[in-house]
Amino acid sequence: MRTILVTGGAGFIGSAVVRHIIRNTTDRAVVVDKLTYAGNLNSLTPVSDSDRFAFEQVDICDRAALDDVFARYQPDVVMHLAAESHVDRSIDGPAAFIETNIVGTYTLLEAARHYWNALAAEEKAAFRFHHISTDEVFGDLHGTDDFFTETTPYAPSSPYSASKAGSDHLVRAWLRTYGLPTLVTNCSNNYGPYHFPEKLIPLMILNALAGKPLPVYGNGQQIRDWLYVEDHARALYLVATEGQCGETYNIGGHNEQKNLDVVMTLCDLLEELVPQKPDGVAHYKELVTFVTDRPGHDLRYAIDASKIERELGWRPAETFESGLRKTVQWYLDNEAWWKQVLDGSYQGERLGLK
Ligand code: NAD
Repeated sequence: MRTILVTGGAGFIGSAVVRHIIRNTTDRAVVVDKLTYAGNLNSLTPVSDSDRFAFEQVDICDRAALDDVFARYQPDVVMHLAAESHVDRSIDGPAAFIETNIVGTYTLLEAARHYWNALAAEEKAAFRFHHISTDEVFGDLHGTDDFFTETTPYAPSSPYSASKAGSDHLVRAWLRTYGLPTLVTNCSNNYGPYHFPEKLIPLMILNALAGKPLPVYGNGQQIRDWLYVEDHARALYLVATEGQCGETYNIGGHNEQKNLDVVMTLCDLLEELVPQKPDGVAHYKELVTFVTDRPGHDLRYAIDASKIERELGWRPAETFESGLRKTVQWYLDNEAWWKQVLDGSYQGERLGLK
């Protein structure tokens, strides 16, 4: 049985990776997560009863705690997703982004390198460190028809994307300098179940259901390339287990959408699925409110994912239409999950485990 250590496994994408590992493979998943505001153990309850699941509440900046986890679990693969991930928060308070995304990635790389160095030759050759990153490191496509490829130069715009760019460079340096077998993936915007309600799609769904304004930055013409989170989790597992060490893979869904169009499509879906609207609301679309744009807001991101499609045979299963419908339905069916996030009680769940 292969052991996969998943940092950030209680977050949005990390928990999708862990659910994928437990449900669809015979591997063991060891979650390493500090449980910041973004970590939610309720997102792991569907699989946490498995004897192939383990959880460790550890900060990736804590080298001694990481050394202990590596020694006890002897992982074959590390999938590194732990990060501060919200662009708006990085503008208000960049320090945590530098600490976790850069210092934390450095600390994890060092713990992994010392563990890997001490492995027997066969295990050493099989070990893999997979770093999960974003297409935001490439900066802004300025509305052109270009796509980000694996060789697009880095030009990050926000403290978040700059800190992720820094972490990507560290990972490549540990490969080149120390020979640590690493892989990097850069992915477009994810959406789907268990997404923290500060992010665009869940925020709009939950605000609309509550009859609250739907805040759209600037004129809403920013373009993002959307990928359903379970398609991303499948791609990540494929890269972590079958990708070529030393390589980078871009992951995206070929689903470029203007932010305003995403919000309008969500309103149409809600009209169909929840025709009974909150008091005083005739149409969900009337809740759309334009707000001051985010400073440094990139206009367009779009991914060329042909390398992972060609070399590893990965394709997204969901279209934007099918994925968005599933997502809205998931929020309608899982009120308990998001109500505990909105009232803060999801954090109380931590006490049971530590
Ligand atoms: P998230 O914010 O939902 O989850 C991050 C997780 O990391 C949380 O569980 C949090 O508790 C944990 N964490 C934060 N700081 C930590 C620390 N110091 N030590 C240990 N754990 C810590 O993020 P997400 O959306 O799931 O993103 C996961 C990864 O994927 C990130 O690296 C992000 O940059 C990348 N990514 C995200 C997207 C997206 O659209 N969400 C797209 C491409 C890439």
